[in-house]
Amino acid sequence: METIIFDVDDTLYDQTLPFKIACKKVIQTPLSDEEMERLYVISRKYSDALFERWESGEVSSHELHTYRITAACLEFDIKISEQSAVRFQEVYLAEQNKIMLYSEVEELIETLYQQNKQLAVLTNGKAGHQSMKIKQLGLSRWIPEQHIFISGAVGHAKPSREVFNHIEDKLQLDKAKTVYIGDSFENDIIGAKQAGWKAIWVNHRQRKSLSDDIVADKIVNSPEELLNYFKNRL
Ligand SMILES: [Mg+2]
Repeated sequence: METIIFDVDDTLYDQTLPFKIACKKVIQTPLSDEEMERLYVISRKYSDALFERWESGEVSSHELHTYRITAACLEFDIKISEQSAVRFQEVYLAEQNKIMLYSEVEELIETLYQQNKQLAVLTNGKAGHQSMKIKQLGLSRWIPEQHIFISGAVGHAKPSREVFNHIEDKLQLDKAKTVYIGDSFENDIIGAKQAGWKAIWVNHRQRKSLSDDIVADKIVNSPEELLNYFKNRL
């Protein structure tokens, strides 16, 4: 049976939306839509850089949250106070409670579900926070609880081999027929390819590939392209 496993953040829903609302409400300097998207990508870079130390408890959530937006803003020559950084995170979090699936992704999951594909998600983050988003997105309509894998609960995070092996142990899957879909080259594509799975890179933020040795099986530039890719395969 074919198994399709999805990343969550910025793959299933537009993570820049809550981010942009936080920018508009908190950052005094007006930014264009394109600037906010660049700021988002830069803040993710800083966030990913601290992720492991945060997961291990060496860096607190407060430090992670204030650092990533403060450091990203500095690249735009914008200085924000610690208070603003805290406020930014509060708004960002509140807006994450309102996230919705990309309509094309919803159609894709529904189609795959109708075709009896084995579906799962694998996401990095703390169990409580990621569960909140998964619930808000309504994934239980198609994906059973035991097919939801959150790094904080598993004890290993992408791109480490262990988290992919964990899923192989838990699901009946054929690696050659297992596809992982994600937006992060570093975590999703490198992780899945190292595990011997197929990988589709949803590169809608036009990021650069970080490896010459590891290549995604397919690169799409939007959720729409992702949906069409599967439609054409069927
Ligand atoms: Mg992601």
